[in-house]
Amino acid sequence: MENFLKCNFCGRKKDEITFLISGINGHICNFCIEKTYSIIHKKFSTEKTDFEEKIYNIKNKKIQIKKPKEIKNFLDKYIIGQNEAKKIISVAVYNHYKRIQYDKNKNKDDIEIDKSNILLIGNTGTGKTLLAKSISKLLKVPFTIADATTLTEAGYVGEDVESILTRLLQSVNYDINHAEKGIVFIDEIDKISRKKNNPSITRDVSGEGVQQALLKLLEGAIINVPPQGGRKHPDQKMIQINTDNILFIAGGTFDGIEKIISDRINQFSIGFIIKKRKKEKKNYLQNIIANDLRKFGLIPELIGRFPIITYLDPLNKITLKKILIEPKNALIKQYKKLFNMDKISMNITDDALDIIVDETIQLGLGARGLRTFCEKIFVDYIFEMKESNKILNIDKNMVIKKLFYS
Ligand code: ADP
Repeated sequence: MENFLKCNFCGRKKDEITFLISGINGHICNFCIEKTYSIIHKKFSTEKTDFEEKIYNIKNKKIQIKKPKEIKNFLDKYIIGQNEAKKIISVAVYNHYKRIQYDKNKNKDDIEIDKSNILLIGNTGTGKTLLAKSISKLLKVPFTIADATTLTEAGYVGEDVESILTRLLQSVNYDINHAEKGIVFIDEIDKISRKKNNPSITRDVSGEGVQQALLKLLEGAIINVPPQGGRKHPDQKMIQINTDNILFIAGGTFDGIEKIISDRINQFSIGFIIKKRKKEKKNYLQNIIANDLRKFGLIPELIGRFPIITYLDPLNKITLKKILIEPKNALIKQYKKLFNMDKISMNITDDALDIIVDETIQLGLGARGLRTFCEKIFVDYIFEMKESNKILNIDKNMVIKKLFYS
C-alpha cells in the first residue's frame, strides 16, 4: 500500500522522491516543498524591498537637486538684487546636495567632497536670512535660525552650541533623518568674534569659546543634542545627530570690516592710480578675504569651516522700491491681497512709495524698515475697513499724513 503513495502536487511516486509529508487529504514531496518555499521566499523578498524602498523614501524625504541656474531663478523671484551672492549660493547649495548623494552612491574612488558651508556678510536687512530661508523653501528641507549671541562656551550661563540643532530637530518633530539634511542659519556670527582687550583672567566665553565649540558642529560630526535645548546636563538623555550633511549658512554685518579691507587694499595700492582706489571704495566688501575676517576676530579654524564667503550689497532707493512691489510676496502685494479679501481694491501711487522708501533709507534697517512704515500707513485703513469702500487709492499726501501727522 505504501508504494502507491504519491505527491498530490507533482504526481511523483514514493520511490521517486526522498520523502513525502502527509496532510489531512493528501501528500507533498520534498521537491514540491523546496519549490513552493523558493516561490514564497522570492515574492516576500521583492515585496519587502518595495516596502523598504517606500519607507526609505519617506524617511529620507529625497531632495530634488536643482541646477545652479534653477536655484538662482527661484531666488530671483523672492530676492531683489544681490546677484553675486545668489550666484555663489546657488553653486554652493548645488554642490552640497550633490555631495550628499555622492556619499550615498558609495563611489569607490577616494575623493571626498568637502562641505560647502557659506558665510554671508552684509548690512542688516539686506536679505541674508531671506536667502537661506528661500533655499530651504525651494529644496523643501528643514530650516532653522539660530542667534549666535545667545550661545556661550559649555559650562557658562547661556545656551550650548548644540541647542542650535535642537531647534532644527523640533522643526521636523524630531525626525532625525530629515533634520540631518537641513539648513541652519546662524545669525550674528560676527558678534562671537574674539573680544579685543580681553583681560587675561576672564575667559572669552561668548566669543572665542563659542567659536571653538562651533567647529565640531560645522565640520560634520556626531553631536549629542539635548532634546529640549538650553544647557546640557549629565542625567539628560541625548539625541545623536550627524551634522555631516547639514548645510550651515552664517550671516553677520561685521561692522567695521570695511575699514580693515580698505586699509589692506590701500596699503597695497600705494603708487597706483588714485582714481581706481576711489572706485573700489564703493564696495569694499566684494574684496573681502579670509585674513580680513581673522583681523576682525574670527579664529582661523572657524573661517576654514566656511569655504564659501560672499557679500551682500547695501540697499539703495531703487532696490528698496523694487522690494516693496516686485518679489513674489512683496509687501504691497500682501496688503493688496489683504484688502482684496474684503473685496476692496487698493492702489498706491508711485510717489507715495517713494516716501516710504526715503524714510526706510533714513531708518538704516535695510528692507526691514519698509514693514514698519507700511504698518503705520495701513493700520488705520485696515481697522476702519468697510465693505462699501470698493476702491482705496493711497497717494503721496495720505502717506505723509499717516507718517508725520498722526
Ligand atoms: P538680514 O540681512 O538682516 O538677515 P533679512 O533677510 O532678515 O535681513 O531681511 C529682512 C526683510 O527684508 C526680509 O523679510 C525681506 O522681506 C526683506 N528683504 C531684505 N532684503 C531683501 C532683498 N534683497 N529682496 C527682497 N526682500 C528683501
